[in-house]
Amino acid sequence: MSYQLPALDYDLKALEPHLSSEILELHHGKHHAAYVAGANTTLEKLADARQGKDFGKINQLSKDLAFHLSGHVLHALFWKNLGPNGGGDPGGALAEQINRDFGSIDGFREQFTAAAMGIQGSGWAALSWEPVAGQLLVHQVYDHQTNFGQGTTPILVLDMWEHAFYLQYRNVKADWVKGYWNIVNWQDVADRLARVSKGPAAV
Ligand code: MN
Repeated sequence: MSYQLPALDYDLKALEPHLSSEILELHHGKHHAAYVAGANTTLEKLADARQGKDFGKINQLSKDLAFHLSGHVLHALFWKNLGPNGGGDPGGALAEQINRDFGSIDGFREQFTAAAMGIQGSGWAALSWEPVAGQLLVHQVYDHQTNFGQGTTPILVLDMWEHAFYLQYRNVKADWVKGYWNIVNWQDVADRLARVSKGPAAV
């Protein structure tokens, strides 16, 4: 069972000017690839530990697995959430759900933006489906694996690690977030909501 780096659905210049090809190439080809490799390496080390009955490093390996696997999953989702014909507002059932859970599209966008801008250190903003109450929530994810509700499924994410924007936007995080809203592929987000909202509750 190994993980693989997924190919992008668009070419490296497709998200310009909002996301430069230089960032996209490094972010996908180096950073995301490193999480894929890290997840696979950690699984191999866990297999070795079981084989050798040596669990002396189980705490570190467990942390590494959560970090690298979550990094892989969030990046894979992030690339699917973006597209060259993105931006604007969501429509249909996704818009109805957002209006129900956040009061308005603008209210959601403002909360998501504030969550992204407020992250201390490295992390993500995430719009997630919460199946117990059957609602959408915004989470601030620290690193890749911390500070979200168990059982929730992210359907829209924004990478706020410095590697996601610094080459283009330097320290001006707000401009990266503005650029991001111009490349969100709302159809992808709507398709994800339609799928996950049919799933069973976690408890
Ligand atoms: Mn990243």
